[in-house]
Amino acid sequence: MKIFRADYVFPVCADPIKNGVVAVDDSGKIISVSANDSVDNQFVEKVNGIICPGFVNTHCHLELSHLKDKVKPRRGLINFIKDVQAVRNAGDAEIAAAAVKADEDMYDNGIVAVGDICNSNITIPIKAKSKLYYHSFSEIFSFLPERAQDSFDKALALAGEFKAGSASITPHAPYSVSKELFRLIKHYCDTRERNLISIHNQESEDENKFFRYRLGGFLDLYDHFGIDITYFKSQARNSVQTVIPLLSNKQEVLLVHNTCTNLKDIYFIKRFDKKVHYCFCPGANLYIEDKLPKIELFIDQGFNLTLGTDSLASNTKLCILHEMRLIQERIPAIGFDRLLKWATVNGAKYLGIDDEKGTIEPGKTPGLNVITGMEGFRITPATKVKRLV
Ligand SMILES: [Zn+2]
Repeated sequence: MKIFRADYVFPVCADPIKNGVVAVDDSGKIISVSANDSVDNQFVEKVNGIICPGFVNTHCHLELSHLKDKVKPRRGLINFIKDVQAVRNAGDAEIAAAAVKADEDMYDNGIVAVGDICNSNITIPIKAKSKLYYHSFSEIFSFLPERAQDSFDKALALAGEFKAGSASITPHAPYSVSKELFRLIKHYCDTRERNLISIHNQESEDENKFFRYRLGGFLDLYDHFGIDITYFKSQARNSVQTVIPLLSNKQEVLLVHNTCTNLKDIYFIKRFDKKVHYCFCPGANLYIEDKLPKIELFIDQGFNLTLGTDSLASNTKLCILHEMRLIQERIPAIGFDRLLKWATVNGAKYLGIDDEKGTIEPGKTPGLNVITGMEGFRITPATKVKRLV
């Protein structure tokens, strides 16, 4: 057993505790958390800084880790997609080695659980050995209606290669999944106990332009890949408004990025009886589009808000504290306590692991991080995370 005393303990499920004490057993299970001053000092390890639960990263692509520094930043999503397709092929050994390192980096950065998008089975052995919890999303895309069944079957087969219960099938994005394919996924979701959905949503203004007016960069993108989409008609509404009605209301749905989601979209989504959560990936948004979502619009709307790193193709590191810092630097009104919820318990709730992760409570095994270099409760360039348990 270990006992830690920190300047502050943030259990997340309760108010911060000044000079808080956390006792944890050798398996990482929390025994107690308190402001108990009477604990015998010789057994107590004094920790400078804030103790908080391990972080949950709800959006990553571990299998793209070998693309770090390979894609030029700030050229917009259309160019990003073209560039990734042009450089993503590499030898299995190179891809696997980069993924192993990324997994270790996430561990060191205090991440305990990851929602990970997959287009291949290459990360399966890495996840089997990892100290992190992974939920893998077998991602489906095909914008051609005649390809729907084939794409669906392939994704289902890939999901089946993962450990039972650790994977689900998911549509990639509104612009890359036909209505026919959405229908196949919905039917699957309606008839399954659990199939977590995670969709890239409104990552660029081009996506809205494509759906509203059938204009913009996606026409060029489909042309670039030689895909004939003459069948597709303008939908006269934003992409998310087109696809929300096509989703099952039985499964939890994570909308990722939301860079170009507006208040009208948010109200539209609220009117539907769907289990929607949001994920913000500010590091990737700044890398690709050089802009952030209107994050303030999402607050206090009754949605569960979470954070993700996206992949090393579009980020400099896989670190949830870094994502929190990017938000706080640009939107100072969003406080540390709120960001910490997004970074821990909210992600755990979406992944369905909040009985174990996300808060410091007796009986849970959330992992423990130490945050140092804060100014009051503000994250600064000097703020660091270190894994304690
Ligand atoms: Zn992504």
